[in-house]
Amino acid sequence: MDRIQQGLHKRTTLAKRKVQRISKEDVKRCMKDNGFVLFTVVAVVIGVILGFCLRKYQMNFRQIKYFSFPGEILMRMLQMLVMPLIISSLVTGMAALDSKASGKMGIRAVIYYTTTTILAVITGIIMVLIIHPGAGGKEKMHREGKVEEVHSADAFMDLARNMFPPNLVEACFKQFKTNYGVRKVKPIIAQNGSVGSESAVSNFSQAKNLLLEVTEEMIPISGSVNAVNALGLVVFSMSFGLVIGNMKQDGAILRDFFDCLNEAIMQLVSVIMWYAPIGLLFLIAGKIMEMEDMTVVGGQLGMYTITVIVGLLFHALIVLPLLYFFITRKNPFAFMGGLLQALVTALGTSSSSATLPITFRCLEDKIGLDKRITRFVLPVGATINMDGTALYEALAAIFIAQVNNFELNFGQIITISITATAASIGAAGIPQAGLVTMVIVLTSVGLPTDDITLIIAVDWFLDRLRTTTNVLGDSLGAGIVQHLSRHELQKMDAEGCNSGIEENEMKKPYQLICQDNDNEKPMDSETKM
Ligand code: ASP
Repeated sequence: MDRIQQGLHKRTTLAKRKVQRISKEDVKRCMKDNGFVLFTVVAVVIGVILGFCLRKYQMNFRQIKYFSFPGEILMRMLQMLVMPLIISSLVTGMAALDSKASGKMGIRAVIYYTTTTILAVITGIIMVLIIHPGAGGKEKMHREGKVEEVHSADAFMDLARNMFPPNLVEACFKQFKTNYGVRKVKPIIAQNGSVGSESAVSNFSQAKNLLLEVTEEMIPISGSVNAVNALGLVVFSMSFGLVIGNMKQDGAILRDFFDCLNEAIMQLVSVIMWYAPIGLLFLIAGKIMEMEDMTVVGGQLGMYTITVIVGLLFHALIVLPLLYFFITRKNPFAFMGGLLQALVTALGTSSSSATLPITFRCLEDKIGLDKRITRFVLPVGATINMDGTALYEALAAIFIAQVNNFELNFGQIITISITATAASIGAAGIPQAGLVTMVIVLTSVGLPTDDITLIIAVDWFLDRLRTTTNVLGDSLGAGIVQHLSRHELQKMDAEGCNSGIEENEMKKPYQLICQDNDNEKPMDSETKM
């Protein structure tokens, strides 16, 4: 009996030691892998608590601005890296692929972007039609801010204009934007004395007796806004990268230059990431302190907010993960876990462009995606693929129709879907850009653009959620395109053609998403390069 007890005791002690050893190592590894993410999440939570605690001191605008200063510095640091990152990653990304491979990947990316944007728009429309948050009219609703008029045709033409910036240096800090001016239109007096155009009077003697009215006409004039013209830079960098790739050996110097630039920028990103949690803390706390009294968010506006949240959650947690799972047969939530830091940054900054450097870091270092994919797919996605924005714009437009008791027919709903898709492509990856492009959606079906002021009060918050959805959509898209392009990538690996992206970089462990599938570990294998 004694011996049995001793044996049992021995085994328990051994097991305990083993558990202790494993748990220590586990904790260490876990901290090393996730400590940083944990740090960021904790900072966000502290930011929220701090913001609500400090609200009762009712600081004035100046004090809040000073308080948010560390957050503003984070935004500036991230924005500083966006432009060189977009250019260098796209040039090297395109140069690393032969034109056939890049063509195929490009088509896959475009099909993914289109499909998910359409799914997002459909989700938004179904949610708003089912929940019907706009019941009850708009008379008692709170209004805030004002809206700048935009003509749909001009907005679409601006999109095309911005794709081809006449001056690349200017494109780094300015976007083209149509403004409107007033032109006085005088009645034309014909040589024989008859009055043309505005007047129906046919002879001069009659005309003299009339007060000839000078009418005013709104005319489009060239203008600009201070923002990086990401679309122009994307188009240029992609074409430039493709040309460099086709130049083979002759383009090697340029390829190496951009590759080196990209690496240097990514190292800067690693440094900035250490500061990100602090910046996010102040950014979020400052925003909560600045927020208007939330009592305005009652009635229809409250229902509208809930509808948007439900729509975005449905798209982000059900539609996109299911799509990822069906295509790749891998766990989408493991993928999303590796992306946590980028998602939290998107939530804190409301800008998918500013989040881009962190998204790169998460996808390449944590999830282990191939750099040939991330460099090519991510900047394009951050510029044109905005599922959250598309969902939001379609939903908001129908909400505005509902509060106006405006019955939309099927054709108008289709028009809203198309314009919401286009407006999301045109929206820049900056805070509240979607609100500006929403004017296009409203004018396309004749809804009053002034009613955007009804939803401005909650937009700062919804913007954060849709930005997070945008970043998630881009990232899952990169994972899907990589999966679909695995054969081309393997073929390129076998041919030893890494086209300039440094050899050791290409061997990044394919940590999270491919851990369960040996056939899809192109980057893990020592034999590949
Ligand atoms: N803030 C969003 C983004 O950066 C754009 C929007 O306003 O919807 O992705």
